[in-house]
Amino acid sequence: MSMQFERKLALPAEVKEMYPLSGKMNETVEKRNAQIKSIFEGRDRRLLLIIGPCSADNEDSVIDYTLRLKDIQEKVEDKIFIVPRIYTNKPRTTGAGYKGMLHQPDPNEKPDMFKGIIATRHLHMRAVEETGFSCADEMLYPENYQYLEDLLGYVAVGARSVEDQQHRLVASGISVPVGMKNPTSGDYSIMMNAISAAQHAHTFIYRGWEVHSGGNTHTHAILRGYTNKHGQALPNYHYEDLIRLYEDYQKGDYLNPAVIIDTNHGNSGKDPFEQPRIIKEVLYACRHNKDVGGMVKGFMVESYIEDGNQKVGGGVYGKSITDACLGWEKSEKLILEMAELL
Ligand code: PEP
Ligand code: MN
Repeated sequence: MSMQFERKLALPAEVKEMYPLSGKMNETVEKRNAQIKSIFEGRDRRLLLIIGPCSADNEDSVIDYTLRLKDIQEKVEDKIFIVPRIYTNKPRTTGAGYKGMLHQPDPNEKPDMFKGIIATRHLHMRAVEETGFSCADEMLYPENYQYLEDLLGYVAVGARSVEDQQHRLVASGISVPVGMKNPTSGDYSIMMNAISAAQHAHTFIYRGWEVHSGGNTHTHAILRGYTNKHGQALPNYHYEDLIRLYEDYQKGDYLNPAVIIDTNHGNSGKDPFEQPRIIKEVLYACRHNKDVGGMVKGFMVESYIEDGNQKVGGGVYGKSITDACLGWEKSEKLILEMAELL
């Protein structure tokens, strides 16, 4: 093998022992997880808002941002349930570029996987402890999920991973809602198959063990737009797209049929300033048709302290080093406007 085995990494159980959750943190996570599930079951009618930077590149600015969300959550708590997006590992289309805090706890330094495991756990722990939020992350590498499993309230499987069997099997054993994104091609059937696979029980190999999963009945769709054969970004948040998804759900025996609309990526054509308009259009579709309204459980928004993005090493505090984001002022305005529309 042309691979150097550098060092053996600590097991998830060992890392959890080194950095354990306090009783209060555990209580916060469990209480919120029950609330998030009840939104997916339709027992709680509030809208879920998964919001935060494309990548969590810096602990201080991410916590600063998350504290701002805390203030606004109190103002809109009867209408909107906020889950901060703290994404610590990034899929890269060509493999090149910043792969997230897991690989590079400091984006300007070379990768260090052990430091990365600790940094991502530390960041999610600070979020729970200092802001009272349990957060969302992407499960990019299924074998790493256990390092954060006791902290997360929501998990997404990305557009480039959704067709992968191991992601689907591991999702079937996760006890919080998992969102399956449509693939970059836009094919709904791949996403629907992923939902079906994860909603059922399986036996498989995980981290050197034979394991049995129980099936995750809160696995659902995330529509993120797509790319056509000419490489153009096209949206899939329109009324017709939502009706088509509703019909696909009717054709199978899915539990808790639900969708989260990702307002950036293919849906915004990577223009983050389109996100408020997209949300308003979807809310209109929800009012127009009660089936659509019942299925749309919330939104995923890319937002940070500063508008736009910069190159790695750009040095602007709170400005994305991956996808361009909506800055804080516009994000705050958006959340208040959403609450008024609900
Ligand atoms: C993301 O959420 O930043 C992301 C990379 O999403 P997708 O998998 O939809 O490209
Ligand atoms: Mn992104």
